[in-house]
Amino acid sequence: MSTLFEFLPIGAYRTNPSGAVLRANSALVRMNGYETEAQWLEAINTDSDAWYVDPRRRKELREMLDRDGAIINFVSEVQSPRRSGQIWVREAAHAVRDADGTLLYYEGTIEDITANHLAQLALTQSEERWKLALESTGDGVWDWYVQTGVEFYSRRCKEIYGFAEDEVADRSDALDGRTHPDDVAQMQRDRETHFTGKAETYTNEHRILCKDGSWKWVLTRGMVISRDAQGQPLRMIGTHTDISARKEAEAQVWKQAHFDALTGLPNRRMLRQRLDNAIRRSQQSNQQLAILFVDLDHFKEVNDTLGHDNGDLLLVQAAQRIFDCVGVNDTVARMGGDEFTVVLCEAQGSEQVEAILHRMLGSLASAFPLGAEQVFVSASIGVALYPQNATLVEELLKHADQALYVAKGGGRNRFSFFTPSMQETAQLRARLAADLRLALSQQQFELVYQPIVHLASGGVHKAEALLRWHHPQRGAVSPAQFIPIAESTGLIIAIGEWVFQQAAQQVAQWRTRYGVDFQISVNKSPVQFHRPDKNQQTWGAQLQSMGLDGTSIAVEITEGLLLDTNDDVAQQLHTLRAAGIAISLDDFGTGYSSLTYLQRIDIDFIKIDQSFVCNLKPASTDLAVCKAIILLAHDLGMRVVAEGVETAEQRDLLVAAGCDFGQGYLFARPMAVAAFEDYMGRTP
Ligand code: C2E
Ligand code: MG
Ligand code: MG
Repeated sequence: MSTLFEFLPIGAYRTNPSGAVLRANSALVRMNGYETEAQWLEAINTDSDAWYVDPRRRKELREMLDRDGAIINFVSEVQSPRRSGQIWVREAAHAVRDADGTLLYYEGTIEDITANHLAQLALTQSEERWKLALESTGDGVWDWYVQTGVEFYSRRCKEIYGFAEDEVADRSDALDGRTHPDDVAQMQRDRETHFTGKAETYTNEHRILCKDGSWKWVLTRGMVISRDAQGQPLRMIGTHTDISARKEAEAQVWKQAHFDALTGLPNRRMLRQRLDNAIRRSQQSNQQLAILFVDLDHFKEVNDTLGHDNGDLLLVQAAQRIFDCVGVNDTVARMGGDEFTVVLCEAQGSEQVEAILHRMLGSLASAFPLGAEQVFVSASIGVALYPQNATLVEELLKHADQALYVAKGGGRNRFSFFTPSMQETAQLRARLAADLRLALSQQQFELVYQPIVHLASGGVHKAEALLRWHHPQRGAVSPAQFIPIAESTGLIIAIGEWVFQQAAQQVAQWRTRYGVDFQISVNKSPVQFHRPDKNQQTWGAQLQSMGLDGTSIAVEITEGLLLDTNDDVAQQLHTLRAAGIAISLDDFGTGYSSLTYLQRIDIDFIKIDQSFVCNLKPASTDLAVCKAIILLAHDLGMRVVAEGVETAEQRDLLVAAGCDFGQGYLFARPMAVAAFEDYMGRTP
């Protein structure tokens, strides 16, 4: 044999035709841990099958050789007892034949690849262990050969999307191709950031189309683990985590933050976004927007009398009705309570907007079926137009609110468009509110007194105290104007207390002058009941400390207060009455209440509102109403005062109807103390 054979760095051998090894080079002998060729030849030829760790390997080698004439790259584990035990070898061999095809011998090479092979094995094993570890977290694992597009997905990775093991091809587009179109661009940007090394790892959240057609949110994280010489990624490994539960929760939170739970409509926050968008769009298209503030009339009464569950039902139905009146691109939002805001983008010009407003009012004014009951409410709507009235969102909303205020004041069940004069009115209100803060300390208030006449005798033993504000610049400001401001600012608490104390001092004087049954009535706002001053002595106690009987004062309350289910209000009314103070129900007939509510609390006087009195004619409906009120009130042990009596005819009709007292210009206007005393001097 040649020197090449002998000095080949890898093992080489030759056999006879039956496979017995005749020659082995020194590399092969050393590989097997023997000193001399003869020793190894003896060992291998004694039991050649035992050389392979898997005894079948020898047979396989022979079969392949006989079939193909040659083998290469035949890798097996073999025994090397003199060395570490087992080693890994790569064999190549061929059969050598003569010209007739007769087998002469076999020869081959054997290469010890143990070190390399074990390293490779370890790598595969660790990768597998690593993938297993990733999978055990419930994540799917992917292994992507970036440049060839081959990608392997773990079983779990396919399972997340509802696929079986064999239903997803080993290609990167098998899942990438199912990415939600809206998420593709961001996914590519995130990958690029990692590929170029700007981010150490790749992370992205996207939706993938599941087998059943639904979308699933996943978080994918990965890392390039090898790159080519140019630094381009070759292979990348990563995971998919199913984050649908988290996305669901996030969506839920977002929904709660942007939508009203009861009606499902956008809330105030969402409205702002929609309105901002609508304004941006209409700037581009040069189109008009209409912003509607819709407020249900008398909703509070429904809530108070029929309960909150029914109130909620009504709101849901009202929301639907409003929604049904607008176009698909318009927005209806609930601002809280019974207030809704609508943004109309489609209606152009006031005619189209008005048509929608009429439809909406009509729809909201028709009966609401609530269980067994039929309930009627109506709505008031304020409208501001973009860009005619304002271009800033804040301004627009303010203007719609001002217009709503006017619609409410105009008698409800109507709409009004914002006008610049409303803005002036609103500004005036704001200025008055500021001035009102100083009015008490600067002694700008005065009480005037209007006699309440006993109709049968014409005698006067009662008077109503009415508040007057002498504004240093504006002169007399009407209570109709400043009382609502005092109520909304809370100033009414201090003002109301002042009124009471003035009236109490006055009645003390007049009781000595006009008789011990003289009584002054004072108006008490619902706000005074809802925010009572805890530090203040009760009115009963104050009267007592002045040496006055409780009966010297009557408190005029409004119907709305009676509907209040708040226990505290009932308790305060009870305390007043327990001190002997009379309770008088003001403006009766204008509110929602019926006489049945009057039984809830002890009432001494009912004051029929002047709107009934001013139209009193023989055989009129209003007369019938007055008669009914008087009859029922008497039945319940109450006495009746008619307000706003201006003519003798009205007085006569009231007397005939059995009314107890009358108050009005016919007898006297509200008067300052001196004028009142003058008047008393002239009456019988
Ligand atoms: P009210 O309690 O119903 O008072 C009766 C109102 O009718 C008074 O208006 C009175 O001047 C007016 N009036 C009396 N007789 C006639 C008449 O024959 N014809 C017409 N057209 N009107 C008549 P005023 O003084 O402007 O007060 C308006 C409202 O302001 C009062 O209505 C009351 O609700 C409120 N108010 C007045 N003073 C006070 C107060 O001290 N505290 C509170 N909380 N409210 C007050
Ligand atoms: Mg009154
Ligand atoms: Mg009144």
